Amino acid sequence: MADCIFCKIINKEIPSNIVYEDDLVVAFRDINPQAPVHILIVPKEHIPTLLDLNEDNKHLVSHAYMVAKELAKKEGIDEKGYRIISNCGNDGGQTVYHIHFHLLGGRFMTWPPG
Ligand code: C5P
Repeated sequence: MADCIFCKIINKEIPSNIVYEDDLVVAFRDINPQAPVHILIVPKEHIPTLLDLNEDNKHLVSHAYMVAKELAKKEGIDEKGYRIISNCGNDGGQTVYHIHFHLLGGRFMTWPPG
């Protein structure tokens, strides 16, 4: 999608620190990290919000979680634990309308989130 910042990152039109890529997803370090490890796992398909998930694209969610698991091991946060977050809509705190999964780790996560 032309004016989507994550589509531009996926298409390498703007720079990012990519740590993993395959046919379905790109993973890159968040530009404003909220933890020592903060990686965004982003499906290449432009899906605006979690509300746009359907039977045809739902496999991207499980794939993203599997990629997160491997990245957690690679980043050394698997043993102590990590958190995956996906914000949906205004009240959910979503700011980029192209679905993505935050992989956060390297510190203790408080609950509930703000
Ligand atoms: O869940 P939400 O939509 O708010 O998350 C968007 C995330 O994308 C933010 O954590 C922001 O720092 C990150 N971002 C980025 N690189 C950009 C634009 C946004 O890492 N160029």
